Amino acid sequence: MAPNALLDVRNVETYYGNIRALNGVDVSVNQGEIVALIGANGAGKSTLMMTIFGSPRARSGQIVFDGTDITQMPTHEIARLRIAQSPEGRRIFPRMTVLENLQMGASLDKLKFFDEDVEKVFTLFPRLKERINQRGGTLSGGEQQMLSIGRALMARPRLLLLDEPSLGLAPLIVKGIFDAIRELNRTQGLTVFLVEQNAFGALKLATRGYVMVNGSVTMSGTGKDLLADPEVRAAYLEGG
Ligand code: ATP
Repeated sequence: MAPNALLDVRNVETYYGNIRALNGVDVSVNQGEIVALIGANGAGKSTLMMTIFGSPRARSGQIVFDGTDITQMPTHEIARLRIAQSPEGRRIFPRMTVLENLQMGASLDKLKFFDEDVEKVFTLFPRLKERINQRGGTLSGGEQQMLSIGRALMARPRLLLLDEPSLGLAPLIVKGIFDAIRELNRTQGLTVFLVEQNAFGALKLATRGYVMVNGSVTMSGTGKDLLADPEVRAAYLEGG
């Protein structure tokens, strides 16, 4: 498979009750890559992201992170390995301020880095600094997305999982978010696994990509190759 991968998902099946949402999925992410998973609504993209993070659990197959089998690990232990997630819908704490939300992302053993890490988030997203005492629930959609990514970064992740960071945002804001992800990868070598319906933006950003259809990976390749692929173009890019 992918012996040197930072994250290696092998033949994973995930069910909701009797319904199989993932049907033997193989995906790998190497150190320093941005890998995008694209696919239509209901393809199983979020399910894969959540399965990597331990909820729901895979019913079969294996998920290995940096040589450790995390398939059956509880989420808090997975987080301790420094996998961080910005989930679909952002899930920020609406009554907490921007700063308090960032505090929630910092793990206890990283508190000595808190000021430094907050400054890094504010350098990446200066908008958040301007709104440091504003409650999360009153932020715009784009600002909430920045906060969700910022909160994930506070865990000093070795792997950042991003579920639909562009969802519901205006094109210019999406560009800002994608630029920030590119910058994190370029300057800090951060490894990113990203799920997106915005196939064009995601594949332009990604080193490699996977296409998911009905719970199975049907295609993979470099971001560039997938962008040029006629089938991908017809299904996910044209008119989009
Ligand atoms: P979207 O882009 O619309 O979020 P997706 O590719 O992320 O789509 P999933 O949300 O992973 O797709 O859904 C995959 C399948 O699993 C769908 O058929 C969905 O209805 C089903 N599913 C998702 N969550 C649950 C749940 N909690 N209980 C039962 N079925 C679920």
